[in-house]
Amino acid sequence: MNIISAIQEMQSLALSLKREGKTIAFVPTMGFLHEGHASLLREGRRLGDVLVLSIFVNPIQFGQNEDLERYPRDMERDCRIARECGTDIVFTPEAAGMYPPGFQTSIRVRELSLPLCGASRPGHFDGVATVVTKLFNMVQPDVALFGNKDYQQLAVIRRMTHDLNLPVRVIGMPIVREADGLAMSSRNSYLSPVERRSALCLSRAIRLVRERFAGGEHSASTLLAAARELITAEPAAVIDYLELRDSASLAPVDLVSDTTLLALAVKIGTTRLIDNTVLGDTP
Ligand code: AMP
Repeated sequence: MNIISAIQEMQSLALSLKREGKTIAFVPTMGFLHEGHASLLREGRRLGDVLVLSIFVNPIQFGQNEDLERYPRDMERDCRIARECGTDIVFTPEAAGMYPPGFQTSIRVRELSLPLCGASRPGHFDGVATVVTKLFNMVQPDVALFGNKDYQQLAVIRRMTHDLNLPVRVIGMPIVREADGLAMSSRNSYLSPVERRSALCLSRAIRLVRERFAGGEHSASTLLAAARELITAEPAAVIDYLELRDSASLAPVDLVSDTTLLALAVKIGTTRLIDNTVLGDTP
């Protein structure tokens, strides 16, 4: 496994691999890998001749008072997991090289970036779209894998890839959960044992809404009220957003269907967690 931090070196290697006719599968991450990331890497291993993992905590997708400085890092462990998943190249660019003085370009996917996490984190998806475009240009992937865990992020990246005619096949992968239902996230490492138990209210709210929907309840306001009640019963939990939206357009819905997205962000103490489900999909 090759570890590359120089952007030029990554891009030259990718271009020469492409000239040799090799296909490149790419998994972009912010590191502190867990089984969710590993599932993307394993599928990437299957889909490309060369598997590239990037680890980059992207400063421009973090707001002023967010966790950029304390975002968890463990390069040694990440490399071990990457190796176990058959990764060929770990790309670890530096922020100074990604955003040198004078940098002033931004990619904005207008409507899809506005609601949900875009409303709580202004500019977040511009930062995501911009860094993913840059990483695509550096890594030259044929296929790139993203998790449904960050549902809106995946929608933004799909839209951007289509709108800008980027020659990359974007693959969405199922959410990997802990045995008790908590969606895996690098940020789960911030939770104290007590908070870790409180954090189960996100997946429990999802389960409740799925059950009520399967039982015939189609009113968005009724379903949201039930989920809200479950979450607010948890003293450590503060809802950032809890919404039912069309899974393609992210427009709000009054009546839910199989293609409705339930998306939520909840603060547990100081840790903001997100989760989601599309009601008609297998959980
Ligand atoms: P991150 O390092 O949090 O930026 O995530 C990197 C990629 O892994 C993104 O495409 C995420 O959606 C994906 N990912 C993170 N957590 C999970 C999970 N629990 N299940 C599936 N994919 C995940």
